[in-house]
Amino acid sequence: MNNFEFSRAADVADAVRQIAAEPSATFVAGGTNLIDLIKEGVTKPSRLIDITRLQLNRVEDKSDGGLRIGALVPNSDLAYHPQIAARYPLLASAILAGASAQLRNMASTGGNLLQRTRCFYFYDTTTPCNKREPGSGCSAIEGINRGHAILGTSERCIATHPSDMCVALAALEARVLVTGKSGERSIAFADFHRLPGDTPQTDSNLRADEIITAIELPPKGFAANYSYLKIRDRLSYAFALVSVAAALELDGDKIKQARLALGGVAHKPWRVPEGETQLGDAPATRESFARAAETVLRGARGFGHNDFKIELARRAIVRALTQAARGTPQSQSDKRVA
Ligand SMILES: Cc1cc2nc3c(=O)[nH]c(=O)nc-3n(C[C@H](O)[C@H](O)[C@H](O)COP(=O)(O)OP(=O)(O)OC[C@H]3O[C@@H](n4cnc5c(N)ncnc54)[C@H](O)[C@@H]3O)c2cc1C
Ligand code: SF4
Repeated sequence: MNNFEFSRAADVADAVRQIAAEPSATFVAGGTNLIDLIKEGVTKPSRLIDITRLQLNRVEDKSDGGLRIGALVPNSDLAYHPQIAARYPLLASAILAGASAQLRNMASTGGNLLQRTRCFYFYDTTTPCNKREPGSGCSAIEGINRGHAILGTSERCIATHPSDMCVALAALEARVLVTGKSGERSIAFADFHRLPGDTPQTDSNLRADEIITAIELPPKGFAANYSYLKIRDRLSYAFALVSVAAALELDGDKIKQARLALGGVAHKPWRVPEGETQLGDAPATRESFARAAETVLRGARGFGHNDFKIELARRAIVRALTQAARGTPQSQSDKRVA
């Protein structure tokens, strides 16, 4: 265990001041990912800045009809919040598909966005990993890569982002509110996480002196026709091999608007706007869904052990859209469509 200092932030301004003054410090919220990383020697912060006392634990109405979720709202509270359960059930389903009840009680909204990949080479400090140690190589490309990415990969890293919640937030077109030395800014969810490219050590576009303060949801929650489908090795306490957040607005049997985001397949929640546009005005049929799946998965590439994910993702997209169209979001085994 490496020694580190510990301090507590009094308010957001103090948190920003502390992180800006010490670049090798890091914030701690629920600690459910960070403490493991410290214990494994993957992360060696000089200081933990405890942000749990900040007043960022409320879900509030916005004047445009949307919701503002404080960065410290625990995952469980968010999933069971009456407004989330009623108006954004896609988000509630995604959160409840993740981790365990105990972890969701501790895990915060902001921490969920910044949890790190579950690539086991990243956690195994005896193996090369460009994300942990830039320039050392990627053990997964030629190694055991069953859980790794099939889209948006680079020759430096093929890790996936592990969050379920973020897949729903991507589909709902949430925004991330952050505060840093130069003030506040609002980041579209699609622009928050990064692809690995040549710098896989950087997961997001959050600047070093910034703290996440809130997530904003737009008014539209797609509460009538949605599905979060998570395919994993066990039914609980396992990360997604492939997950799909599907949301539809229907006019009879026709699709007026569609949203689709994938988890477990890329370094960030994967959205392809062209696939969603293709669904607009199309009949809500298996054929339309299969065409959209082809578009979304264009360019997908396996690395050996994870080749199966391409076909799995195709089927999962068709199934999730079918469940969304039927208004049967919880059905996970509809043999008629996949
Ligand atoms: C066994 C296990 C199984 C899990 N299964 C799943 C799963 O199936 N699906 C899933 O989605 N998740 C899963 N998780 C992950 C869990 O959801 C995350 O660990 C959790 O959401 C992180 O939140 P936290 O508050 O504990 O973050 P912390 O561990 O405190 O912090 C994580 C990172 O976020 C940073 N941070 C935290 N808050 C802020 C902020 N406001 N501003 C800036 N930086 C911040 C920290 O500095 C740190 O780098 C699992 C975790 C475990 C341990
Ligand atoms: S996939 Fe990324 S995280 Fe995993 S070993 Fe390669 S560089 Fe490291």
